[in-house]
Amino acid sequence: MLSYLHGFHAGNFADMHKHAALWLVLSHLRKKKKPFCVIDTHAGSGWYDLGSEQAAKTGEWKDGYARAKAGSNPPEMLAEYLDHVARFDPVAMGRDYGVREDDDYRGPFYPGSPFIVREMLREDDELVLMELHPREHEVLHHRVKRDGRIHLHKRDGYEGLVAMMPPAIRRGLVLMDPSYDVKQDYQKAATAIRQAWDKWPTGTFMLWYPILEDGFDAELRRSFGAIKSSGGVLCAELATDQGGAKGRMRGTGLLVINPPWQFDQQLEEIGNWLAKTCKLPGPAKHSTRWLVAAE
Ligand code: SAM
Repeated sequence: MLSYLHGFHAGNFADMHKHAALWLVLSHLRKKKKPFCVIDTHAGSGWYDLGSEQAAKTGEWKDGYARAKAGSNPPEMLAEYLDHVARFDPVAMGRDYGVREDDDYRGPFYPGSPFIVREMLREDDELVLMELHPREHEVLHHRVKRDGRIHLHKRDGYEGLVAMMPPAIRRGLVLMDPSYDVKQDYQKAATAIRQAWDKWPTGTFMLWYPILEDGFDAELRRSFGAIKSSGGVLCAELATDQGGAKGRMRGTGLLVINPPWQFDQQLEEIGNWLAKTCKLPGPAKHSTRWLVAAE
């Protein structure tokens, strides 16, 4: 059952943390000339109109992106990312970004993971996207079909990821950002990443998870603690002790296998800044810890 639509949540505090981390990994991959690939197993529709009825219904982006954009002195790499978002204007890009003439866009706009990665791709880099929701897939297809570096599949992201391992380009990142519509997603995510890492032990893997009152995040951390990767396994969380009832998030987490050099320090600085700038259900803290130490 696919009921989740990211348009209701785009630009919230969890997106700020996750997308800043994605930006850090991409910036690192761009430091070497050798091509890289990114595999985004749960892609969404690519970009979002924050002026839409969907976005207005939850208003979540006002507690996330709007606050971050207005915040003072963000860490350098976060400032770079926020700048990218502020400049992101698909309507100005027109057909290349899949803008439909009959749609009533309002803006501002927010790039989802496919368009954050697209911004960072060079000529020989590649982006593989998977999206299972028929409508989201159709919209995303329209938005990326003119870019030869991007390959979109209407396919289950867990099964698809394992089947694609190892990728032809051996430097890169897997981003897994499930909607956790059903609790089996936790187990499926942990199993797929474990199997994919077995086949591609030098890749960087980043899994997002929500922190909820009745969540299964502890189980995920335990599974990742058993992945003895020489590049280490890092856990970073932005959370509060308060709230989280009725399926509302009280925090957001990332598990990262083989993070780039100094990623932990950079994300800690960004996370501390987001903790005091974004609005969570209560006072927020950021933590970064190694579940498996890098050798
Ligand atoms: N990664 C996106 C971003 O950062 O902009 C947001 C993705 S959203 C949290 C999760 C997406 O996964 C939804 O669009 C949903 O339709 C899709 N999805 C759910 N189950 C899936 C599956 N098994 N395989 C691929 N996509 C799936």
